[in-house]
Amino acid sequence: MIPFIDLAAQRARLGQPLEDAILKVVRSGAYIMGPEIARFEAELAAFGQAPHALSCGSGTEALVLPLMAWEIGPGDAVFCPSFTFAATAEAMPLVGASPVFVDVLPDTYNIDPARLDAAIAAVIAEGKLTPRAVIAVDLFGQPADYAALKAVTDRYGLKLISDSAQGFGCTLRGDHPLHWADVTTTSFFPAKPLGCYGDGGAVLSKDARVHDLLVSLRVHGQAVASDLEGRTFDHDPKYLNMRVGMNSRMDTIQAAVLLQKLTIFADEIAARNRVAARYAEHLGDVVRVPSVIDGGVSVWAQYVIETHDRDGLAAHLRGEGVPTAVYYPVPLHQQAPYRRYPQPGGLPVTEAAAGKVLALPMHAYLEPETQDRIVAAIRNYVKRNRPPS
Ligand SMILES: *Cc1c(COP(=O)(O)O)cnc(C)c1O
Repeated sequence: MIPFIDLAAQRARLGQPLEDAILKVVRSGAYIMGPEIARFEAELAAFGQAPHALSCGSGTEALVLPLMAWEIGPGDAVFCPSFTFAATAEAMPLVGASPVFVDVLPDTYNIDPARLDAAIAAVIAEGKLTPRAVIAVDLFGQPADYAALKAVTDRYGLKLISDSAQGFGCTLRGDHPLHWADVTTTSFFPAKPLGCYGDGGAVLSKDARVHDLLVSLRVHGQAVASDLEGRTFDHDPKYLNMRVGMNSRMDTIQAAVLLQKLTIFADEIAARNRVAARYAEHLGDVVRVPSVIDGGVSVWAQYVIETHDRDGLAAHLRGEGVPTAVYYPVPLHQQAPYRRYPQPGGLPVTEAAAGKVLALPMHAYLEPETQDRIVAAIRNYVKRNRPPS
């Protein structure tokens, strides 16, 4: 079987320095909040053109933390796509708020700004929930339509979160999503474009006060500098809790891994774009290949094609040693825990896409010869099974 994502090739490239970095943490004993954490946060902020970056336990907690910082909770609505990984919508019930599902654009699968505007108006008109925030997802690695989304969130006075778990590193007209969003969240789950060797996540933010709150919330709401300004305490402020938070620290070992991986990340994004361009060139006439928003650069977490008879093609490819995956076969608004939440206007584009999408092997180390085998297997199947015209 051809690898779907080749982490072994990446590890071979990173070589001994990666293993040395891990061993250094093991020998240092600074397993929690060791010096690599602050170094990684600084490098991550620089990469993402962000004033502040906070590492945390996972991409899921990266979404929960800003909702907590803004005190979003019961009675509040947070708008998000349904065509996404469960974590995007899960963050809301975790703080007691309600997700409101919005349909996506048929060409990019990212949240539709016009539908978003209509959904917010519908929730306001109904009068049961208070709109507070929007979570846009950079699905499969490409930026959502942030200029249009920001116009909508500004009009209604809502926070804008970029869930860039799949898209960290993507840009729109040269800017990262944080140019428009209040915070960008990401995940370092191993299979993401920038992954570690376990679980990890981050929140990039623009506002110093929000970052300060996130620092506090990450460690049980402990007092941070802004809480202590102008005050004195007769005990260690480490055990002074100012708010209910949680434990969402990233392991020092993961920061050490990510510091190594960041050094090659820009190069890997370029390589992923070469792979994507090659797929488009050789498949564009037989299946629907992805379209990227004007001015957008994707990091290609996934390369997703659309075809009739998706399941037949997937079975054929499996027989040829080519793995594929379906993201996502059942949209969230149709899954048991989420059915009860509002979905104003319905989600026809999402429902249609779920039946057609197929993700092909995609990573920075996909050799042209291997890609040729994948392309040939797809072309053969599509030609043999073309519906009569
Ligand atoms: C992976 C993912 C997350 C969650 O990340 P974890 O680190 O696995 O918690 C959130 N949103 C999207 C869109 C994702 O793909």
